[in-house]
This record gives sequence, C-alpha cells and structure tokens, in this order.
Amino acid sequence: MSVHSDERVTALSTARHAAVAELCALNDRGLRLRWRLVSLDYQAGVALVCESPDHGRIREGTPDEAPDHEGVYDCCPWPYLEVGPPALAVYLVALLNTDAGGVA
Ligand SMILES: [Zn+2]
Repeated sequence: MSVHSDERVTALSTARHAAVAELCALNDRGLRLRWRLVSLDYQAGVALVCESPDHGRIREGTPDEAPDHEGVYDCCPWPYLEVGPPALAVYLVALLNTDAGGVA
C-alpha cells in the first residue's frame, strides 16, 4: 500500500469510528441503528428506521389507512438528511447499515 492510500484508509477509519461513536450515543436512547431511504422535499435522503406504531399513517381509522415508509414525520428519530442523487443515498444507507453492525 502506498503512503497516500494508507492516509486515505486512516482518514476513513478515523471518520468512521467518530461517526459510530456519535451514533452509539443515540443508541443509548433506545434507538435501533438501522437506516432507510426516504424522500425529503422530493429529494432522496437517509433516515433512521422509525419504530413508532403510528409512523406515517394517513387517514387513520379508514380503509385508506396505509403507512408511508418513505416519509419523515414528527415521530421519526433524528438524524435524517437530504442527500440528493438517489444512487448516493442508496450507497449511504448500505454503508451506514454496514457500520451499524459494528466496525472492526
Ligand atoms: Zn416516524
């Protein structure tokens, strides 16, 4: 490995461990650290999985009642963020869910 690639690996490892440490602090509040794709202002984004039983229900109590899994509501845990390019959002969800399983 070259010096430059060693520096990139170190920078990635440092950033990854810092982010996971912050997310573990959220996990202390009982949040499950699983990420999902969302739509924020018609842009692709990422958010923590919301475990509220009332998450995204529209027209509650009617036959039209249906959860909206791509939406973000008052019930949803922070953080969530708008990403923009859909492929980048898919990549971030895959990356974050990999880290949620533990970083070596
Ligand atoms: Zn929610």
